[in-house]
Amino acid sequence: MQRATRTLTPPVRVQFGCAVRKTVAEETRRLGATRALVLSTPHQSDAALEIAELLGPLAVGVFCKAEMHTPVHVTEAAMAHVAETKADCLIAIGGGSTIGLGKAIAYRSDLPQIVIPTTYAGSEATSILGQTENGVKTTLNHPSVLPEVILYDPELVTTLPVAMTVTSALNAMAHAAEALYATEQTTDTTMMAIEGLRAFADGLPKVIATPTDLAAREATQRGAWACGTVLGQVGMALHHKLCHTLGGSFDLPHAETHAIVLPHAVAYNARAAAAELQPICDLLGGDNAGLALHKFAKEMGAPLALCDLGLREEDLDRAADLATQKPYPNPQPVTRNDIRALLQTAWAGDTPIT
Ligand code: NAD
Repeated sequence: MQRATRTLTPPVRVQFGCAVRKTVAEETRRLGATRALVLSTPHQSDAALEIAELLGPLAVGVFCKAEMHTPVHVTEAAMAHVAETKADCLIAIGGGSTIGLGKAIAYRSDLPQIVIPTTYAGSEATSILGQTENGVKTTLNHPSVLPEVILYDPELVTTLPVAMTVTSALNAMAHAAEALYATEQTTDTTMMAIEGLRAFADGLPKVIATPTDLAAREATQRGAWACGTVLGQVGMALHHKLCHTLGGSFDLPHAETHAIVLPHAVAYNARAAAAELQPICDLLGGDNAGLALHKFAKEMGAPLALCDLGLREEDLDRAADLATQKPYPNPQPVTRNDIRALLQTAWAGDTPIT
């Protein structure tokens, strides 16, 4: 397999701006690559074809079969395509699912990646890869997974439906909220987390009111980058554990689950980390970060109840068992009974327990 030269490129090059996707050919050449494979979900194949057109002779193929949770069988099919086309560079256009596919290929091939995110999930800024095989989702962290170039083009997020704009934004905010009380937290990660939260606290109401407001969309993309960056720098706690359990074992949708669980997990941890979570109160108002997020989510029209995602009440016991099976660092001690109560409240869509 041919390899592009990567030695002269900095570790991550991040560009923001309207129509910045149109620099994709230049960015490909900058990586020293000449044979780019474009990746997307079936739903975003038009966007992938536009990128292939912009690449002209630098494009050797388009693979539009990315799926949620990065199934290994899809990655293997894509790897066959990489070998056939002798691709020397990957270009992922889409949300976390497409970016996950690019990362999974890069992990297996060390090919450089240009990522063009179209949601706020933040995967583009981490060296974390989650993949699913035989119904089990596992996560790894490896430098080869971190994309070399990120192009944030606000025009591409204008097509994100309002409901997904809201849940994806809360997904991003969840990374920043948990970074505030993370064990590895530093002044820099906290500053970046606060900037990420601020971008959504200010920008989300604007993009909901006017989804085509490009300046507001760009501001929220800057927030997504900040939130994704802290996700890659510090360990996550209760909130991400609960979402991983609910997504992995009960097949709940990623962004919606994050949006619903976040106020409950933060209210739980505010019992032990109120000072660390104070920036959320400063940005959103109120004196409890969990309740502040609940009010914000409600005002933004986010889904509030896990029962609306199809989770059954009789699944809550197993979810509580799974989420408390192994110990992990968390500001408020995690007990099975407390987590069961949290899940009941989130399931019903009630006000978080403080
Ligand atoms: P997604 O990528 O699954 O996208 C959901 C749907 O929306 C897809 O059909 C997609 O094609 C479509 N879509 C995306 N952007 C659009 C746009 N602008 N306009 C219209 N449609 C659009 O959703 P997601 O929430 O971004 O990603 C979720 C996945 O990412 C999960 O598998 C999650 O585990 C992973 N993730 C990984 C990390 C990491 O660091 N490894 C971080 C965050 C999320």
